[in-house]
Amino acid sequence: MILKIVCSCWVFFYLWQDVGEHVAARTVKQEEGHAHKVHCSRERSRAAWQAIEEYLMPFVEREQYQISSKCRLHPSNDLFRDQEEHKIHVDINEWKCGYCKKHFRAEKYLDQHFDNRHYNLLNISDGKCLADLCGALHCDFMMDSKSTKTKCNPAAVAKNRHLCESLADSCFPLNQGPSASRLHELFLHQFCDAHTCSGKRNLFPKGGKKTTSVFYLAISILTMMMIPLFYLIVYLHQSEMRKGTQELRRISKVGKKTKPS
Ligand SMILES: [Zn+2]
Repeated sequence: MILKIVCSCWVFFYLWQDVGEHVAARTVKQEEGHAHKVHCSRERSRAAWQAIEEYLMPFVEREQYQISSKCRLHPSNDLFRDQEEHKIHVDINEWKCGYCKKHFRAEKYLDQHFDNRHYNLLNISDGKCLADLCGALHCDFMMDSKSTKTKCNPAAVAKNRHLCESLADSCFPLNQGPSASRLHELFLHQFCDAHTCSGKRNLFPKGGKKTTSVFYLAISILTMMMIPLFYLIVYLHQSEMRKGTQELRRISKVGKKTKPS
């Protein structure tokens, strides 16, 4: 009973509050009791997913290749995927939970909310932590592309390269036809070749998602906006000219009328 009253008090309290940080903070405070520890970094999993999305998926889509669920890069093998897909970025400082529609001022509060309130939706099982593949997928670069290069550790580099090559083998098996073979080659080139201490580390040499389309879109929208403006200027100019000739005519008429008198 007491719990019920407390709950309804909370509901009223929320109704009276604006969307904001303090709401998120209180929500987290209230939910702290339910906190559940998952031994997989959400941030690093997100960085790994970004690397896959940006530097691998455009090529996979071009080949129309279906990644097997046995491959650790498959979306079903990312325990945070479902939650990440339930993030709604409403505005710069407004995030919404896709499960319960609660609003938050920053992504980190939504992350905390997911950890506390929706942890039961996490797909927790072995081998589903995408962050475990960070060594192979260059997550550090994804998280901070300006990071100063630390001293190369040959043992760590060899380990990452091995992990990277095993991903290429399991995700794009060479006996699965020409598309798989091409993607296997591409994956090695794009992700694995940079795991070296000798020579220049060339990260993602094949490039990523094309951003030029956004540029072209902006240009075409601008052009579309300029066309009516151009016609408006021409119209105004012409009507100005017409006015000018009419006035001239009037003046000349007046001039003619006054002439005989
Ligand atoms: Zn929620």
